[in-house]
Amino acid sequence: MDPITRRSFLAGGTAGIAIALAGCAPTGSTRAILSAVPEAPVAFARTSWSTDPFALGSYSFLAPSALGTDARDVLATPVGRLHVAGEATSSEAPSTTHGALASGVRAANEVAESGGSIVVIGAGFAGLAAARVLVDVGREVIVVEARDRVGGRAHTIDLAGTPADLGPSWVHGVTDNLVADLAAEAGTELVPFDYDNAVGGDDDALAEIEDLYDLALEEDDPEGRPLSDVVPGSLTAAQTWALSTEISGEFAADPDELAIAALDEGEEMLGGDALLVGGYGTLIDELAGEVPVEFEWVVAAIEHDELGVTVRSTDGRVIRADSAILTVPIGVLRAGSIAITPPLPPATAEAIAALGSGLLDKLWLTFDEVFWNPDAAVIHWIDPDDPGLWGFWVNGFAAFGTPTLLTFSAGARARDLATWTDDEVVASAMSALRRMA
Ligand SMILES: Cc1cc2nc3c(=O)[nH]c(=O)nc-3n(C[C@H](O)[C@H](O)[C@H](O)COP(=O)(O)OP(=O)(O)OC[C@H]3O[C@@H](n4cnc5c(N)ncnc54)[C@H](O)[C@@H]3O)c2cc1C
Repeated sequence: MDPITRRSFLAGGTAGIAIALAGCAPTGSTRAILSAVPEAPVAFARTSWSTDPFALGSYSFLAPSALGTDARDVLATPVGRLHVAGEATSSEAPSTTHGALASGVRAANEVAESGGSIVVIGAGFAGLAAARVLVDVGREVIVVEARDRVGGRAHTIDLAGTPADLGPSWVHGVTDNLVADLAAEAGTELVPFDYDNAVGGDDDALAEIEDLYDLALEEDDPEGRPLSDVVPGSLTAAQTWALSTEISGEFAADPDELAIAALDEGEEMLGGDALLVGGYGTLIDELAGEVPVEFEWVVAAIEHDELGVTVRSTDGRVIRADSAILTVPIGVLRAGSIAITPPLPPATAEAIAALGSGLLDKLWLTFDEVFWNPDAAVIHWIDPDDPGLWGFWVNGFAAFGTPTLLTFSAGARARDLATWTDDEVVASAMSALRRMA
């Protein structure tokens, strides 16, 4: 397993972190919390991707199945005049924005070979990229989008002056990356993110999870078996925290949901990760350009045959086109909320079943002033009573210059937190900050 693949999602290579904690502490204090923690944040933003009807999860993960890593290519195989794109169809960079963008370009190129009009379903990275390519070559295109905005899972809000990304934050592997190119086109600054510049946590536990990666990938049938098969039954608090940060936080799924082969999916991502100073919204605006989008157009049904595609909305509108590019998230495909006639072939259905819809939720907190270590990029926290809860924090001050923190929940933990009230979630995170002091 190469240490710089999808694992850089949240935590970077564990070997790197272990070295960093021992030898590359930030220039200031190595304590996480430096002064009194206020009672409450000035403002907060909390996501609930599992209950968002147009996402039904945060991003795809590889579940144990007979199809294994072929699932993404099978899903990407056109079904007559119906072409499927979106992050879940990217075998090179699954679960990322650049994988989504590339999948849209791929589908546009497939469609460009045949003549006629195109309807694109979904205005996220994949749908906008597909439409943009087709518009640029003069094709007749219309995008239909269920929401009242473009971007899909990429969505930036202004949280008391911070461009808070509710979906993706990082560009993973900035070298040869279409999203990094888009940032350059948009004039959006990329800020390199140093996962190794962390305080707190436990380097030994992280190194043990690193060993687990290596051992797991030597196992028989890594595509058919869950990762939990190789996780020891009894874990220390530090190991539980490391597993939650390294596995659940990265893949948005827990070891019992995830195929062992998920650890090794995708191509190596080079050049390190970066945050976007203005947030992902700046890139979405650039990509959307003059692409024609019909908003609040919720697709209920798709009929397709050798002559073309008919797309129907939940409120009775109809669009007829020669081809369609379907980019709705894996969660929506799995839910079957769009009736497709004739049904997708068994191989495509099997691929959808082999890809889970994972859950990563975010909690942004902003304050009057910074009370934590301003030099660290990351704060690790092992809650002695509940290790893994609020275990990974991003210092927004380092990236955005505002007194902001970003923390996460993932997998079963996030599904549980999704049932809590806002007050309960914020109080729980604030309690963690107080206990770090
Ligand atoms: C919390 C979180 C953190 C993430 N972190 C990162 C990160 O740091 N870096 C990274 O690279 N990636 C990250 N990702 C993943 C990244 O956001 C996705 O891979 C990418 O945005 C997916 O783009 P897409 O076009 O495939 O799908 P989407 O952006 O979901 O686009 C699909 C579109 O289809 C629309 N739609 C759904 N149903 C219907 C319907 N019935 N009718 C019409 N339209 C419909 C949706 O509204 C949506 O606009 C993260 C995701 C989440 C949620």
